[in-house]
Amino acid sequence: MMTPTGSSALNATRRTRELEELGEHTVVDLLVIGGGVTGAGVALDAASRGLSVVLAERHDLAFGTSRWSSKLVHGGLRYLASGNIGIARESAVERNIIMMRTAPHLVRPLPQLVPLLPSVGAAEAALVRAGFLAGDALRASAATPATVLPRSRRLDATRTAALAPAVRRAGLRGGLLAYDGQLVDDARFVVALARTAAAYGARILTRVEARDVTGDGATLHDTLTGTDLDVRARAVVNAAGVWAGRVDPTIRLRPSRGTHLVLDAATLGNPTAALTVPIPGERNRFVFALPAQLGRVYLGLTDEEAPGELPDVPQASDGEIGFLLDTVNTALATPLTRDDVLGTFAGLRPLLDTTASDTGGSTADLSRKHAVIRTEGGPIGIVGGKLTTYRKMAEDAVDAAIEVAGLTARQCRTRQLPVVGAANSAVLGMLTAPHSLVQRYGTEAALLAADLTRMEPIAPGIDITRAEVEFAVSHEGALDVDDVLDRRTRIGLVPRERTLAENAVSTVFE
Ligand SMILES: Cc1cc2nc3c(=O)[nH]c(=O)nc-3n(C[C@H](O)[C@H](O)[C@H](O)COP(=O)(O)OP(=O)(O)OC[C@H]3O[C@@H](n4cnc5c(N)ncnc54)[C@H](O)[C@@H]3O)c2cc1C
Repeated sequence: MMTPTGSSALNATRRTRELEELGEHTVVDLLVIGGGVTGAGVALDAASRGLSVVLAERHDLAFGTSRWSSKLVHGGLRYLASGNIGIARESAVERNIIMMRTAPHLVRPLPQLVPLLPSVGAAEAALVRAGFLAGDALRASAATPATVLPRSRRLDATRTAALAPAVRRAGLRGGLLAYDGQLVDDARFVVALARTAAAYGARILTRVEARDVTGDGATLHDTLTGTDLDVRARAVVNAAGVWAGRVDPTIRLRPSRGTHLVLDAATLGNPTAALTVPIPGERNRFVFALPAQLGRVYLGLTDEEAPGELPDVPQASDGEIGFLLDTVNTALATPLTRDDVLGTFAGLRPLLDTTASDTGGSTADLSRKHAVIRTEGGPIGIVGGKLTTYRKMAEDAVDAAIEVAGLTARQCRTRQLPVVGAANSAVLGMLTAPHSLVQRYGTEAALLAADLTRMEPIAPGIDITRAEVEFAVSHEGALDVDDVLDRRTRIGLVPRERTLAENAVSTVFE
């Protein structure tokens, strides 16, 4: 079996060297456009099969939708409820691979708790319970043991309040609990995938925009120097997410915006479970208050049709903020107000527009299926899907590239392939490093924690060390202060903390 022989370290020096090498009229096997979870997954899949790979990302790794997700590695329960058994099963299988093999260090079991308040009637509670039991069956069918994701169960009112202290007590009958996977951070997962691809020899080039893309190459525009480079490839994969239609106008997407609010976990009594609140008047849709790293809670999420211009960084609307607060407040003892909102983030789902004769249904009903799109003379498009199923999307895209270009390559092996830092909980438990570092870096935490002089917080009250900021630059391809604040760490999700840390982070670039 092929093992990575190269370094996984991404940095400015490597980027410059690899761009120079490419300038020597190289023809590569595969050019990947987009450095989100899909593109990074494609690069890893192809490089680990022995193909030569260039990935071009016009901004930074995880600049697009991949950093705005709910950070859940879904078991697919939601799709089961809407009758999409195939997608549900695929999600459960992919969740198993990520949690058991690919990135066990970055994913933890997240308890999700539906409080049984008077607003949740007996029939609705029975429906949720039945759904949770179906989720247990899905988990078992994907061979994920209950030691990794515990079985669902009913809790009494005392235990419910212990897991979600802010919940309303009046009329609380108890709660229904189920487990799913939660990434410590989605952008961090993308960087780990890209670095692992780099260890297999993939050239991961950020600040490089692909222009005039065809089925056998593109002009790569270095946005830092303004230079253009013509790169030829035996196959090209368009993994540009919601921007895929800009790269290849034959692709039609119907973007939908999803928004989260960032709260201080203390405002909700430091919950250890995700409070899951049914949206009044809707069946099988919930608002989640997800406990997250850095003492935060992400409250999400919306599903709003977002036609027209595609912003680089989507913004939450006032209506979405109101909707999320109103919905969660139906379950809280003390209502949240807008003053409790520390920050917001919004992303565009790259949903496939499967309805040429559009019935005008809501985007919440649009399929989360992925598709490989082949057009005569154009790149191979890989669109739709979701973060959880990135690996299968990558496998399907690379299979198509191999077939279309007649490439010689090994079988896909990403089902068995751990990313940098991955290890099981027994190994992780033996590391001498703070828990938060182990959660974010796995085995590499030991490396970061080795130099005690670098372990002070980057700014008062922020649980990110100077060692992490330096590692972002030396190993994780961060090229400027924004890369560090907004993607390698998520300090930037709270503007006040962003301001607090900005100067200290900038000293690392001096
Ligand atoms: C609010 C929200 C919550 C979600 N929550 C979850 C969840 O909890 N779990 C889950 O499994 N899924 C979730 N999803 C879905 C998931 O986030 C997306 O399906 C996934 O991140 C899409 O990744 P991508 O790599 O295809 O696209 P992107 O992450 O958008 O990556 C595309 C990249 O292409 C780059 N690019 C574009 N044009 C060019 C060009 N010409 N040259 C070079 N680069 C280019 C962009 O800069 C971008 O970085 C959520 C989605 C949203 C919106």
